[in-house]
Amino acid sequence: MEKKTSILIIYTGGTIGMIQNTDTGALESFNFDHLLSHVPELKQFNLDIDVITFNPTIDSSDMEPELWCRIVAIIEENYDKFDGFVILHGTDTMSFTASALSFMLEDLMKPVILTGSQLPVGALRTDGKENLITAIEIAAAKNADGTPVVPEVCIFFQEKLMRGNRTSKVNSESFGAFGSNNYPLLALAGTDIHFYTNNIKRYNPNLKLKTHYNLCSDIIIFSLFPGIQREVVEPLLGAENIKGVIFRTFGAGNAPRKEWLIDALKRANDEGKIIINITQCAGGSVHMERYETGLQLLQAGVISGKDSTVEASLTKLMYLLGEELPIEEVRRLMSTNIAGEISE
Ligand code: ASP
Repeated sequence: MEKKTSILIIYTGGTIGMIQNTDTGALESFNFDHLLSHVPELKQFNLDIDVITFNPTIDSSDMEPELWCRIVAIIEENYDKFDGFVILHGTDTMSFTASALSFMLEDLMKPVILTGSQLPVGALRTDGKENLITAIEIAAAKNADGTPVVPEVCIFFQEKLMRGNRTSKVNSESFGAFGSNNYPLLALAGTDIHFYTNNIKRYNPNLKLKTHYNLCSDIIIFSLFPGIQREVVEPLLGAENIKGVIFRTFGAGNAPRKEWLIDALKRANDEGKIIINITQCAGGSVHMERYETGLQLLQAGVISGKDSTVEASLTKLMYLLGEELPIEEVRRLMSTNIAGEISE
């Protein structure tokens, strides 16, 4: 008899499984049995489904790099046993987790689909059921030759399958909580699930999963605004224990022409800090050579993160710094596509 397709669900927490605390009215994490009892449809799948639950389950605002490592360890330990993985996760930091996993799971050749919901699975109008059921279907989808249709880390949310490290949470209320402005969809789930194979990573049978567990969090995200003050910026960029800066600039990667700002960036760069230019815009890319206000940053040693998201550039820098590569190599790689996070 042919072996059934097997899926491992990793339940980390999030609204999908939460219930209301009767005293405070706030939503709190709850166990997986509670979640399952609301989705009896799962029994109809002709799949082997196993579940590993975080103990305790968490609101994803409490997500930490150690917990990303725990997810990676679970996937590594179970990689040969399962055909695909579904991670149930709160929406607040789901794009950070998806981005981190895309770097920590190098040469992944199986689906890792993150999903969650805006309303708990017990709520009448919940989006959780549909998200969970479709995420499982996508994780289990195979080509005619038995290879997985989507061998990469993705987020599935309200009809849309997106490359995980291209997503951001774009709405705190809408069922369409995630967007992927700089990369097209991998699939759209209407009456059928339509996969856009040209947008999906190619399966390569020769690649073996390599996991990475060392992440360095000595990073700040620093956002420009008109009227930004020297007294605040200088200590920030000069802080001794900072190794990297995600610098959120205007438009195509521009900053005000303030001498003290450029000097502070140059000093930070000379001290070996890695400064990555990421636009504050929800879509589009950094082009520092386009305007004088961008060129001054390039000349100060700021590196272009091109069209990567804040979530992807932050977790990529955490990963590259954790690998303890030479600084020049980290600088080069931050501008180079390594896991589908930058458009070629
Ligand atoms: N605060 C919740 C979380 O991220 C929100 C959600 O799940 O949508 O865990």
